[in-house]
Amino acid sequence: MAADCIFCKIIAGEIPADVVAESEHTIAFRDINPKAPVHVLVVPKVHEPDAAALASAEPAIAAELLAQTRVVASQEGYEDYNLVFNTGAEAGQTVFHAHVHVLAGVDVSKLFL
Ligand code: ADP
Repeated sequence: MAADCIFCKIIAGEIPADVVAESEHTIAFRDINPKAPVHVLVVPKVHEPDAAALASAEPAIAAELLAQTRVVASQEGYEDYNLVFNTGAEAGQTVFHAHVHVLAGVDVSKLFL
């Protein structure tokens, strides 16, 4: 657990979150500021600063995180969905604990890619 990490505090149960799924090494909860009809964050329980760092340090957990995205989307009623990994402050990352945004029901014509 990293000091002053909001996601570590959620994982520890110190602050509330709307948890929708959990696996051995990950937890998934609804984003507090949803940008799509489904907007869930899948987060490793281990603290790593971003998803690439997680993949280097804990490749099996990175794979578990990716697999969990399908579990979450399917549970929400979607087979097709988008993943976003903001990596680094200049790319819009604001929480420096690895996470993937699972977005479903997005108007894909509005995506920037
Ligand atoms: P951005 O803020 O640009 O989306 P990130 O990729 O770092 O950058 O995403 C962090 C996400 O965490 C944001 O979408 C934000 O709404 C969400 N968030 C921050 N605090 C909480 C919280 N307590 N519970 C749920 N989601 C949170």
